[in-house]
Amino acid sequence: MPGLHRDPLEIRELANLREDTNRRFFGWLKNCSVAEEELDALVRRLNDYVTGEIDCTACANCCRRMSPSLARHDVKRLARTTGLPASEFKRRFLTKDPRFNDLVFNRRPCPLLKGNLCSRYESRPENCRSYPHLQERGFIFRLRGVISNYATCPIVFNVVEMLKAEIWEGNKRPLQYLDEGEFDDVE
Ligand code: SF4
Repeated sequence: MPGLHRDPLEIRELANLREDTNRRFFGWLKNCSVAEEELDALVRRLNDYVTGEIDCTACANCCRRMSPSLARHDVKRLARTTGLPASEFKRRFLTKDPRFNDLVFNRRPCPLLKGNLCSRYESRPENCRSYPHLQERGFIFRLRGVISNYATCPIVFNVVEMLKAEIWEGNKRPLQYLDEGEFDDVE
């Protein structure tokens, strides 16, 4: 599909270029009259579309750049699949995130990433399963995370760009307008 941005390096650069525009958009979004449920439904619809167009196995940028927090059951499940006691799995692969006191992987890229694929995909943590969290309710209350994921995840990047086109400009525009530069002067 022409028009969608799939390259993680490219979206990082575009995210820098569009920082001011995005600040205005997210500021507007926080105070706009779109109901929470309506916004969630729109984001889910856009997410369904973009997710169907982007191949995560050609990207894996979240596995390279993010530090998902792991719940106790995640650690137990992962340890089981690696054949290690949970304590040994923690010692080898995990550390405490001092900001939130959560367990996270001790390095990036994720130590379980092999090439572009998760070597423990069936046992991956809940946080990895739900990433980039666009199906979840309360999009409007998670904008800080959305802004940070926008520069990392092509799915989030494209969903936010489509969201701008759908509700910020007040007119629905066809997807082929999602070309580079199309949104740079959106106010
Ligand atoms: S979820 Fe986003 S960052 Fe992760 S692999 Fe898929 S497109 Fe890339």
